[in-house]
Amino acid sequence: MGTDGNVRVRFAPSPTGALHIGGAHTALFNWLWARHTGGSFILRIEDTDRERSTAEYERTIMDGMRWLGLDWDEGPDKGGNHGPYRQSERMDGYRNASELLIESGRAYRDGEAIIFRVPEGEKILLDDAIYGEINVASEKASMNQDGSIKDIVLIKSDGMPTYNFAVVVDDHFMDITCVIRGEDHIANTPKQILIYRALGWEPPQFAHLPMILGGDKKKLSKRHGATSVFEYNDMGYLPDAVFNFLALLGWTPGGDVEIFDRELAARSFELSKVTKKPAVFDMDKLNYVNQEHLKAMSPEARRNAVEPFWRELGLHPEKHPEKFIEDALTLMGGRGKTTRELAEYSDYFIDFEPVKSRYDASEITPPHREVLRKFFCAIYDRFGDRDWEPARLEEFARDWCEKNNASLKEIAMPMRLALSGRKVSPGVFEMASLMGGEECKIRLSNYQFI
Ligand code: GLU
Repeated sequence: MGTDGNVRVRFAPSPTGALHIGGAHTALFNWLWARHTGGSFILRIEDTDRERSTAEYERTIMDGMRWLGLDWDEGPDKGGNHGPYRQSERMDGYRNASELLIESGRAYRDGEAIIFRVPEGEKILLDDAIYGEINVASEKASMNQDGSIKDIVLIKSDGMPTYNFAVVVDDHFMDITCVIRGEDHIANTPKQILIYRALGWEPPQFAHLPMILGGDKKKLSKRHGATSVFEYNDMGYLPDAVFNFLALLGWTPGGDVEIFDRELAARSFELSKVTKKPAVFDMDKLNYVNQEHLKAMSPEARRNAVEPFWRELGLHPEKHPEKFIEDALTLMGGRGKTTRELAEYSDYFIDFEPVKSRYDASEITPPHREVLRKFFCAIYDRFGDRDWEPARLEEFARDWCEKNNASLKEIAMPMRLALSGRKVSPGVFEMASLMGGEECKIRLSNYQFI
């Protein structure tokens, strides 16, 4: 272990569903440790459940990992020197290892099945990198309900290896140096250590990650909402933010730093700094982290992230120059917790239609409308359709209000509503300036403000 480049860690999902939050969390911590140490991150597909495993789920899991930016060095799609990378392709390996155990008297046949004989009186010491030392007597490693020893099935009567056996054989032949996985596997680890020992193999280091709880402090599950990482994409969470947020479930880079990118995380990650305290999946925190990433990203990246959500709203960002869209989103100044929200809040930059459906100017009285008409005529007389510079517009508006005994508010609020259909928006003169005099004229005249 260490930074000598020999670290080999693996993420070993079963392809029986999409990549869910718990799996993504495990994959991410493995990735962090591999990248921090300059070691290798291996993807292994645990597909011995032939009925529930599908190639489609295998693809979705890989897509989910790619979405989060968790690239792997060896895997079923990439190959490597330690294949096969699917359990279903290593049947001979399991068969041979189980035969060795039969020969040495550590396992026996029961019909077609092969069973490991759990020894009595052996001490098992699990020195977990996160949980610390756990001592278990061998006869307690695998028990029946009544407390009696329960021998461990290695190969089932249908010829398939069990999880506890396959995982040992795989990790051994793949030269895995450190097994980083969810705490739900902690009870399996003593069984696996017994099998390593019986085969005369050196067990890897183990690091069990903290449990993830929902907002109600119960173990995170489907009841708590979205479980697959792609649902977060659809809700408007950025992959960089989800990565950042998942890393915070059990770890921080130190100090008060909460917002970071993959590179900083990989550089400062330490397995020994991961806490065993259960981590709470807090949506408010995720929203905060996402908003910070939305604010910090480049205008171009932000545009690319928001565009699909406008399209979903039936809007066509492609009819505008890219620069206009990027400036509009910059002007939004950090409004919107998700990309989806940001797209909704800024829809009026893309099209006038949503404005019309929200605002009808029915609150404007005839005398108020007269004031507005005079003001906007004066604006167009002064500036024409071009060169709408925010500071000059505002200065003109203030002067005009003073001379005409009007308040800036009675001009600015209807103007804001006519342009955006919203009571809350960026500065109205900045908005008008970005949209330009021509577009503003179309909107203002629709409400007979000009
Ligand atoms: N396929 C197992 C799971 O998804 C892997 C557990 C392990 O990493 O050992 O839980």
